[in-house]
Amino acid sequence: MQKVKENVLLASLTTFEIGGPAKYLLSVRTEADIREALAWAADNKLRVVILGGGSNVLIPDEGIDALVVRLRGDLYACNNGAVDSWAGTNLLSAMRALGAQGWGGWEKLAGIPGTIGGAVRGNAGAFGPEIKDFVTNVRALNSETGEIKDFVNQECDFSYRHSFFKDHPEWIITRVFIRLEKVDPTVSAKLADETIAERERRHLQNVRAAGSYFMNPTAPAEIVAMFEREKQTKSREGRVPAGWLIEKAGMKGATVGGAIASLQHPNYLVNQRNATAENVRQLAEEVKEAVKSQFGVELHEEAAVL
Ligand SMILES: Cc1cc2nc3c(=O)[nH]c(=O)nc-3n(C[C@H](O)[C@H](O)[C@H](O)COP(=O)(O)OP(=O)(O)OC[C@H]3O[C@@H](n4cnc5c(N)ncnc54)[C@H](O)[C@@H]3O)c2cc1C
Repeated sequence: MQKVKENVLLASLTTFEIGGPAKYLLSVRTEADIREALAWAADNKLRVVILGGGSNVLIPDEGIDALVVRLRGDLYACNNGAVDSWAGTNLLSAMRALGAQGWGGWEKLAGIPGTIGGAVRGNAGAFGPEIKDFVTNVRALNSETGEIKDFVNQECDFSYRHSFFKDHPEWIITRVFIRLEKVDPTVSAKLADETIAERERRHLQNVRAAGSYFMNPTAPAEIVAMFEREKQTKSREGRVPAGWLIEKAGMKGATVGGAIASLQHPNYLVNQRNATAENVRQLAEEVKEAVKSQFGVELHEEAAVL
């Protein structure tokens, strides 16, 4: 196990670049490291908070009074398309390397920042596919009982931006098993590049944000119909894009302190000028209220407020 560091600023470990210090921070690269971290936290009567790539979290300004355990390091093996990956592996790095070996099919997920474990916890997805479409099993460690359990896909309770692990943070995802298909390496690389280019076209990706701040909500039929008429497109699962609702509610470009509901894609709440977590939280509340009062629709955070 690496050395536990004390009083470490977390902002630079997140894509928002916001937030105060962790009382303690530890980087881990194996399941055994996580067990040691849990034992150390128990000895010191500390709560444990898990951090992956930090691309879907808002850290409070006052920091986190806990041991923050950060999963690091790319480690995976592929046997004829069956991938066994450490949860801390970066999704895009694994996709590129496995694609070069001729295994893929998941290139529409290219460019989603963060780790494979983080992607499973929130069932990350883009342009239709979600990580659940490729996951066969998930191994997780219960931080309260020490139990290790292999969850088959159906036990993970996956749905839009949701999994069992989101509702049960005591389970730490340690390994993810993925089924890929045989692909031409050149085609795989091209598809991943095209996906990333399309993401950039929709919204600059190199911004200080957590991606979409809110999940796309289900909405009453008349609002879904309004969206479909206006955009000449079918809604998915009766959901409408949160960004569309935010714009319609007049909140595109709204600011609180240094935080803005992006002009390019208003569901990206962006840290444009030294925003605090409080600025983001307040902006999120104002956005929610505006959408609720105009459409009667509740927005729910996709980003985890730790
Ligand atoms: C520019 C940008 C674009 C994005 N685009 C998309 C997109 O297209 N689609 C999409 O779905 N998301 C998108 N996101 C959001 C984000 O990238 C995903 O949610 C990603 O899967 C989060 O992974 P992470 O490792 O960064 O998780 P983190 O941000 O580190 O953590 C998120 C939550 O998961 C928990 N967690 C992390 N790892 C584990 C683990 N091993 N076990 C248990 N809990 C864990 C953390 O405690 C926290 O609550 C985007 C974000 C950014 C910044």
